[in-house]
Parts: sequence; structure tokens; C-alpha cells
Amino acid sequence: MNAPLAINGLSAFGMQPEIVTLAIPEDERVWVPQAPGVWFRPLMLNTVSGGWFNLLRVRKTGVLSRHRHPMAVFGYVLKGRWRYLEHDWIAEEGGFVYEPPGEVHTLVVDAPVEEMITLFNVNGAMIYVDEHGKTAGYEDVFTKIEMCRAHYEQVGLGADYVNQFIR
Ligand code: FE
Repeated sequence: MNAPLAINGLSAFGMQPEIVTLAIPEDERVWVPQAPGVWFRPLMLNTVSGGWFNLLRVRKTGVLSRHRHPMAVFGYVLKGRWRYLEHDWIAEEGGFVYEPPGEVHTLVVDAPVEEMITLFNVNGAMIYVDEHGKTAGYEDVFTKIEMCRAHYEQVGLGADYVNQFIR
């Protein structure tokens, strides 16, 4: 990583480098497969406070996952629309969503949406639960990093390609 430039001596010594990247990548390989018809694109993988920013891209309809958030989640819909079974609102293109800690919900994309892309800032973890609310699995920044490493290695970008998104 590059050492930060100390312009006019104002930047803090030891600070980490910024990330500037085209959010929707030109190289399709940057999208990491999450499930059939579902991908994520890492933007910032935060190993200090635990959490991440990513784009979620869905090209299928129906129920995606039921999950619980132990910490706050923020979202911004870039394309398409989606909803949670537990709520009567729809997250529309251009919409902002705040998901409070403690919330359990089930993500659904309805036809005729062909592609949904949403920027999510997930803090802490995603805890996947079954229909009874029982824990079925989890994701945190470290499982995300591992998924990225395995995928980028496989598609020829190299496992270390993910490093540029890790702070
Ligand atoms: Fe959620």
C-alpha cells in the first residue's frame, strides 16, 4: 500500500489509504458469486470495526435469505426494487433504507425485476436464520474476505486482488 501523502503536513501519520473505485466494475470477474443468481461486489471490507460496504446484485426472483442484523445496516438502491416479507414497504430504485439492529427479515425480489443492485453497508455480521429464527449460518467481514480470495484466485485475478478493498 502507498504511504499517504502529507499535503501541507495536514494528513495524519499512520492513516490508511483511501479507496476510490468504479462501484459497478467493468470487469465482470470482480463480482463474487454468493448463490445462484446472486453476487456481491466488495467496496470496503472493514476489519477494524467489523463490517463491509458492497453492492448486492440479484438476477433472480423470489426469496433470497432470512437474516438477523446484530448491528445497523444502511442501503441505497441503484437498480430494480426489493422488499422484506415482514414489511409492507418496497425499496425502490433511488431509495435509502436503514435496517435497525435486532431486525429479522426475509429479502424478496419480485418479478418482473430482472436485475436488482443495492449498495449495502452491513455492520457486524449477517446472521442467517431459519423460519423459526434459529441460527443457520453467518457472514462477517472475514468470511467475505475469504469468499473474495477464493473467487479472485479462481478467475485469475489472484487471491490478493481483494486486498485493495480491505482496511
Ligand atoms: Fe437485511
